[in-house]
Amino acid sequence: MEIKHFTIPIFVPELACPNQCVFCNQRKISGQIKIPTNEEVREKIEMHLQTIPTENRFIEVGFFGGNFTGIEHNLQKQFLEITDEYYASKKIDSIRISTRPDYINAERLQFLKIYHVKTIELGAQSTDDEVLRLSERGHTFSDIQTASREILANNFRLGLQMMIGLPGDTFEKSLQTAKDIISLNAHETRIYPTLVIAESKLEKLYLKGDYKSLSLKEAVTISKELLLLFEENNVKILRMGLHPSEELVNNTGFIAGPFHRSFKELVLTELWKDLLKNIVNNDLKDELTVYIPVNQINYAIGYNGTNKDFLLKIFKKVNFKIDEKLTKREYYVEYH
Ligand code: SF4
Repeated sequence: MEIKHFTIPIFVPELACPNQCVFCNQRKISGQIKIPTNEEVREKIEMHLQTIPTENRFIEVGFFGGNFTGIEHNLQKQFLEITDEYYASKKIDSIRISTRPDYINAERLQFLKIYHVKTIELGAQSTDDEVLRLSERGHTFSDIQTASREILANNFRLGLQMMIGLPGDTFEKSLQTAKDIISLNAHETRIYPTLVIAESKLEKLYLKGDYKSLSLKEAVTISKELLLLFEENNVKILRMGLHPSEELVNNTGFIAGPFHRSFKELVLTELWKDLLKNIVNNDLKDELTVYIPVNQINYAIGYNGTNKDFLLKIFKKVNFKIDEKLTKREYYVEYH
């Protein structure tokens, strides 16, 4: 029986951050403006636990949003004492935190270990020092390297998040960031296209014409190449595209950039399109059936059926069928 993975997210907004990165307005992104109280943390965990099956599941509580190891020590302790209770009673299996690369040191890691934190995600964003400087991250690639090594040396799982389309970023620099994440031995990553969010510094740059955001097509193309690179090197991709708050989706916080509710689906549609293009070169027949692994069928057909439409320009009839024996992105075709 396959184990299902659940993450209970607790957002701790950027009130603890030492600076304000140009792209960030965490309040608009997470839809939350205050640090949650202990009661709210408990309520959130309980609420999620009620909806999660009791068997064949792996439950993790994740503190996301800002700079967990930078928040006041007592507050970290209070939060972690709560999750540790749930961990001790086996109601949850793991705890993860996200933080900044320059907020990791031996003392902080020892503290996290006491409370059974298993995974530390660093907002690396880029490994190019110029991109980091222009994004006003307040840390360098060297900080990412040092923190990553210490995290792994202390037997935590390492996540390194990256962004594409930051000020000064290029396709080549994004690829290099992915290569650096791989060589730093990260277990997992997230790929976030940069968006211009209301009341961020990037909004001002954008309105003055000093920043140009990626188009959706560019963001999809870059993410597709990054996905292939990460897959080849066994770095798990936890997410592509921002998880939007209601406010962001309702457009009050979104100014510009490659935002799409189904960003990952667009990327996988493009990947499948590249594969299905090969079919076109074969002997043309009237009807085509493409056999696809069960978890890939929607991506193969494509977002809004775009890949099917593409094949329908060549074949009179196109069918997509599941073959349970296929895995990853294997496929085969039959012509009729
Ligand atoms: S470190 Fe993260 S939360 Fe803090 S300002 Fe930068 S992007 Fe926002």
